[in-house]
Amino acid sequence: MNKKIWLSSPHMEGSELELVKDAFESNWIAPLGPHVDAFEQDLASFTGTSHAAALSAGTAALHLALILSGVKPGDEVICQSFTFSASANPIVYIGATPVFVDSEPGTWNMDPDLLEKAIKDRLSKGRKVAAIIPVHLYGMPARMPEIMEVAGRYNIPVLEDAAEALGSNLNGKACGSWGDMGILSFNGNKIITTSGGGALLSDNEEMINKARFLASQARDAAPHYQHSQIGYNYRMSNISAAIGRGQMQVIADRVAKRRKNYEYYYTQLADVRGITFLNEPDGYYSNRWLTAILIDPATSKVSRETIRLALEKENIESRPLWKPMHLQPVFEGYTSYLNGVGEELFEKGLCLPSGSNLTESDLANVVSIIKSNTA
Ligand SMILES: *Cc1c(COP(=O)(O)O)cnc(C)c1O
Repeated sequence: MNKKIWLSSPHMEGSELELVKDAFESNWIAPLGPHVDAFEQDLASFTGTSHAAALSAGTAALHLALILSGVKPGDEVICQSFTFSASANPIVYIGATPVFVDSEPGTWNMDPDLLEKAIKDRLSKGRKVAAIIPVHLYGMPARMPEIMEVAGRYNIPVLEDAAEALGSNLNGKACGSWGDMGILSFNGNKIITTSGGGALLSDNEEMINKARFLASQARDAAPHYQHSQIGYNYRMSNISAAIGRGQMQVIADRVAKRRKNYEYYYTQLADVRGITFLNEPDGYYSNRWLTAILIDPATSKVSRETIRLALEKENIESRPLWKPMHLQPVFEGYTSYLNGVGEELFEKGLCLPSGSNLTESDLANVVSIIKSNTA
């Protein structure tokens, strides 16, 4: 069997282990400590936000963002339909109701016009739209200026799911810094990882302080354990944060390498009949977390499944694009505003191996299998 080529695997540099050793030597083996503080500063300064809270997961960050935005049971929250389920699940944790909005073809992310249509329709039915969750899928920034304008018109907070977009920006402004709050993920498959972890970003210091408070069981200032609110155990461990600090030293290289992967696939495959890529609109800068191709069965004579299975046979992992939330059994019956874009992307799309630790020969291998199956 050939060596396994993963879709996106962890890529350690070496300094991570030194920093973890430091955590051991100083005995800061807890969900707080100097590496947590320093990692938070790294994240805030890298994304150009004033404050960051390091947390146990991106999902936890989004849960806290919804709580801090004042989302209440019975409220509605508009969420991009074409995304990973973790964008939508925290809405349900709160007892609020997700309303799904489809994507637009230029970024594959939330369609700002459809967003406005959805808001108007919800309001006309007497519903309260308490937050909006756009997502920057595969690292491509969503149309944030337009989304912020629509949200501003109706005074609805925007919680940006930038879990896949650390290192991406739009007109120089980082993904995660556009909305009222932004969330990041450092899960094992993301562009940098802390094994598992996430962060909440905001310019609003009070929100981030509250996030840290809620994430550490909502302990009031008292010598005994006293609580006036329900808390959560969502803080990041000092060990994980040590890994994160090491990863932040090489984030620029990681983005450069993932973008190079994209360039390689694009150069090799853009001429193959039936295969298309998502180009960056003017001013958009994607970290190219995952390179995704669309395979049009009408022109290429093969489907994305043919290619996925051909790669799998050679021990190469690839994966269909996210299955939209409005098509997920768990969200059956929820209200959605659709235009067919998410569904088409799901049918035609395939994510190719995109890790920053892939070699030139790994990439060449992937390309040659795709070429021989589309020829
Ligand atoms: C990974 C991911 C999350 C969740 O992050 P975790 O750290 O795994 O909880 C949320 N949204 C999107 C779009 C993701 O890709």
